[in-house]
Amino acid sequence: GSPMGEKLNFDRSAKVIAENSRFVAGGVNSNFRLGMQPGPLVFERGEGPYLFDVDGNRLIDYYCGMGAMVLGHNPLGVRQAVKDQVDRGILFAGQAPIEFEAARIICERIPSAERIRFGSSGSEVAQAAMRLARAATGRRTIVKFEGHYHGWFDNILWSTAPALDVAGPEGAPTAVGGSKGQDPSEAAGLSILGWNDLAAVEARLAKGDVAAVFMEAAMCNQGAISPAPGYLEGVQAACRKHGTLLIFDEVITGFRLGQGGAQKLFGVTPDISIFAKAIANGFPVAAIAGRADLIDMFATGGVLHGGTFNAQPVAMAAMIGTQQGLTGEHHERTSVFGDRLQAGIRDILKEAGIKAQVTGFPLMFHVAFGLEAPARNYREMARSDKKGYSLFALALLQRGVRVLERGAWFVSSEHKDDVVDATLEVVRDAAREVA
Ligand code: PLP
Repeated sequence: GSPMGEKLNFDRSAKVIAENSRFVAGGVNSNFRLGMQPGPLVFERGEGPYLFDVDGNRLIDYYCGMGAMVLGHNPLGVRQAVKDQVDRGILFAGQAPIEFEAARIICERIPSAERIRFGSSGSEVAQAAMRLARAATGRRTIVKFEGHYHGWFDNILWSTAPALDVAGPEGAPTAVGGSKGQDPSEAAGLSILGWNDLAAVEARLAKGDVAAVFMEAAMCNQGAISPAPGYLEGVQAACRKHGTLLIFDEVITGFRLGQGGAQKLFGVTPDISIFAKAIANGFPVAAIAGRADLIDMFATGGVLHGGTFNAQPVAMAAMIGTQQGLTGEHHERTSVFGDRLQAGIRDILKEAGIKAQVTGFPLMFHVAFGLEAPARNYREMARSDKKGYSLFALALLQRGVRVLERGAWFVSSEHKDDVVDATLEVVRDAAREVA
């Protein structure tokens, strides 16, 4: 760490990024790693709650691999499982007992998971979910919500973070694309609605043409927002009434809101759900799970799902190692740290005179500046003071605490009391600087 008051230097990262931008576009391999202040960082090592960068800084990390590292960086159990599997073989293009064990664990833990198929990324299994829903219903339209993110592909990267001046009226949002080069005709496969508004879903489904309602069961890409009481139940009832499937995207919530995901926490079981990120603590594993009759369509219903790296044995070993660490006791213990951290941040910001909302869950929460009340949907969250928060995020980073500029904080089991204490001290200093 750094002595209090002295700001960390990231010059070496900047130099490495600049030098290597002649090989790698922008010096980064995902656009979500571009654009954060003071610039993209380059890391040498991760250990527990810490990342070590090329400037020699030790940072307390609340990116946690964009949510993936729920057990922290490089947990022993996962490392050992991976090493053992590498010695046995890397890729068989056939089945291995290890993938069936992995499947059994998820089916036992996730309420909706009667059957499962594995993939490598959240974006990819989101595609599988949409294809399956369309095949099963013979309908085209997918209801998608403003501010929800289900991957970077053309047919779903719509209205993930639309500027309000182009987003259309709140009751009838315009589909706003997320990238140049995106096929504009893909928007026709979606119907964009505001989230947490049951009447809007009921009205849309009544037209009888919707294959699936696709949602983050708790909205975690723009804020960390819980469903309003009765919302999930109401959406599920409307889906059943109109022959529409309910898909939960649990890529973030899956193993952070508890062992059984948002569906267990909120007690609403979707027809299909998708998982990635924390399922394997940083290894590329994703899953689509759900009702047996639906998921079995991949085997017998003429619905194609493929992938060279699906159920990759080393990644499966990492997944099993991760799930063995994700006990109920793990969640309870880690939640105490996460709750303490949130309460501390809330108090410090208040004392500093910064208007802010700290909302969410013990292992994943969100800090938004400038809001009078917790946001209930994307439009309300979009009115938060993003500029003010990004200055705060920079002030934190300069003191050794790395948080996402968009307000999300991901907590791992390695963010124990001493790390929480150190973090809160930095939060106090940074709050003083930006207040
Ligand atoms: N769904 C949600 C809710 C996500 O947060 C993400 C990634 O951030 C995805 C899907 C896409 O997953 P991946 O980045 O593994 O493709």
